[in-house]
Amino acid sequence: MYPLGIYLHIPFCLSKCPYCDFYSLPYDEELVNQYVSQLIRAIADAPAGGQPVDSIYFGGGTPVLLGERLLSVLQAVYQHFDVSSDCEITLEANPAAMTFETLRKLHQGGFNRISMGVQSASDSELQRLGRRHNFAQAVESVQLAQSAGFENISVDLMLGTPQQTSASVDHFIQTFASLGVQHISGYLLKIEPGTPFARQQIQNICPDEDQSADLYLHTVDQMLQHGYAQYEISNFAKPGFESRHNLKYWRCQQYLGIGPAAHSFLDGKRFFFPRDLSGFLSAPNVWSLCVPDGSGGDLEEVLMLRLRLCEGVRLSMLRQQFELDTSALEKRAAFLQKQGLVYFDGDLLCLTAQGFLISNSLIVDLLECC
Ligand code: SF4
Repeated sequence: MYPLGIYLHIPFCLSKCPYCDFYSLPYDEELVNQYVSQLIRAIADAPAGGQPVDSIYFGGGTPVLLGERLLSVLQAVYQHFDVSSDCEITLEANPAAMTFETLRKLHQGGFNRISMGVQSASDSELQRLGRRHNFAQAVESVQLAQSAGFENISVDLMLGTPQQTSASVDHFIQTFASLGVQHISGYLLKIEPGTPFARQQIQNICPDEDQSADLYLHTVDQMLQHGYAQYEISNFAKPGFESRHNLKYWRCQQYLGIGPAAHSFLDGKRFFFPRDLSGFLSAPNVWSLCVPDGSGGDLEEVLMLRLRLCEGVRLSMLRQQFELDTSALEKRAAFLQKQGLVYFDGDLLCLTAQGFLISNSLIVDLLECC
């Protein structure tokens, strides 16, 4: 059994970005204090207490806004789980939402990885995305984190945003590569229903599908040139700095999510907390709120998740784990290899960068052969 990953959702932000579909509410000091207390109780009552843990991820929302209060939550995890000495402990942060003193204390208290939502190297693109920071502040925040002792820093880059140019993507990658940042996530903008971007029909001024595809392939190439190896559709890292926590999601390993909107996969079952902060705060035992979400780890899920990774999937593993006859899948994989969409050596199957561009339809196509 692999060690568990623990995800703690911190649902507070200073303001709402117009593309964001994550569960987050306006920052409120009183609510935050109540939330921290309830989170600590939730950790004490958590299923799987005492199990080995090798990754802890504070996501959101904007967790860094809670400052040193995060340390009492982290301490509760240490008290109730068997946390490994090399545990990856990640903090999501937004540029310009933190001070050197806070970062130093969080690093001293055990946080060893920081993931910053930078999104773009262009101030006009950042403004359009509704971000509160400019690029100079983002660079300064990375330098602050480095001075505070963080040696594992990730930055997010958004692709396919309104009027984005490849020059701004290049500037982004070059800048953070020269600062020695270890990990970059490069996500294509997805217009989520119900967000201000969807209401504004922002897709009309975004790069079209072909332009986005070109930008993605250009990004993959630039990342490689700057020493960031792609290990997942949207993730690139210097060797040894792949996100241990996120790899658990794609490898179908166990994780426990705590907080409204957090999802879990434990003992073969998936479940999640409703997107409801007041329900979470008032529950005598938050675990009674969890909504079952079926069993996980079936063939469809394994294929969908593992093919997001450059390491792909081994057909021998599928045969063994699911008693699957893979002959049709092998034929299809060999055909798709000729189109340049997958790599297939008779056992290992993975998507190429071209394949990643149409990963959803490609995976459905492969699943039809199972
Ligand atoms: S800061 Fe992050 S979580 Fe908060 S609204 Fe913006 S994108 Fe969403």
